[in-house]
Amino acid sequence: MSFIRTILGDIPSEQIGLTYSHEHVVIDHCYATSLHPEFLLNDFAKLKTELAELKKLDLSLMVDTMPVNAGRNPLLSAKLSEETGIHLVVPTGIHQEKYYPKSHWRFQYSEQELADLFMADVQDGIDRYDYNGPVIRRAQAHKAGLIKLATDETPFSSHQEMIFRAVVQTHRQTGVPILTHTTQGTLALEQAELFAKLGADLDHVVLSHVDRNPDLGYVRAVLDTGVSVEFDSAFRWKTNPNQTYQYLEQLLPDYPRQIVVGMDAAKNAYWKSYGGKPGLDYLLTTFPEELKTRGLEDYLDLIFIHNPRRIYSFIKPKKS
Ligand SMILES: [Zn+2]
Repeated sequence: MSFIRTILGDIPSEQIGLTYSHEHVVIDHCYATSLHPEFLLNDFAKLKTELAELKKLDLSLMVDTMPVNAGRNPLLSAKLSEETGIHLVVPTGIHQEKYYPKSHWRFQYSEQELADLFMADVQDGIDRYDYNGPVIRRAQAHKAGLIKLATDETPFSSHQEMIFRAVVQTHRQTGVPILTHTTQGTLALEQAELFAKLGADLDHVVLSHVDRNPDLGYVRAVLDTGVSVEFDSAFRWKTNPNQTYQYLEQLLPDYPRQIVVGMDAAKNAYWKSYGGKPGLDYLLTTFPEELKTRGLEDYLDLIFIHNPRRIYSFIKPKKS
């Protein structure tokens, strides 16, 4: 039976309901928050308040997307999930280079050393120190359920290609699904092609922020490879027309099984509980109303429930 690996354990995929597909739920102190204090999301009372509102709107699962040594706190995530009843997936993998100091171990370790760290997060439990120091103490009950990588707007470096190989090795050997960061939707096609070449199962690969790419033809080419895409900018466009809603109108009829949605609310100024806006409930209030006015209500269950269930399920591990 297919399952999704949450911070509190594995659950049958069919038990998952409404899903937010690219979130920032917990971001504890780390190098990234020292550069960007607005990313800090570690006030338990505020996090709980915001998630409790989402629970009232029937949200089932949030896919958290801060990978190793970029603010993970598996014990805080577990407590938040326990106290709100919202399932949380917490990732392994690694973020953009800019979120780590130049001296970071990610630039020193071999492909196999990186893959071994990722695999241990998935199989043995996330390091409660988030791979911050030489001592590793695994939260054995709290495993990673996703693996992430990130690229910027320049052609892949050899370091990034090594990360792709370590990520696909982890995916194939443990079955963990893959989510990526693209920078404004650039190089999404190159990501998809490299995953295909390395033997990833594209039914379980989702590329984020692709609705920020201004070229609809390019987005279609990405979808034609078979990967899924995540859209999260509906509330960000200051322009009218709103590109995310337009893309959904044009793409859902042709690619109904390859699109999911999220908030990507990494800045605490997007959270109502931090005094910001629009609040994480936007995606369960304003967003579905807008889709209904566009005649897209029949796709809501696909993008919120059925597509995430498939994408975030583990695959059967492969021998090599
Ligand atoms: Zn993000």
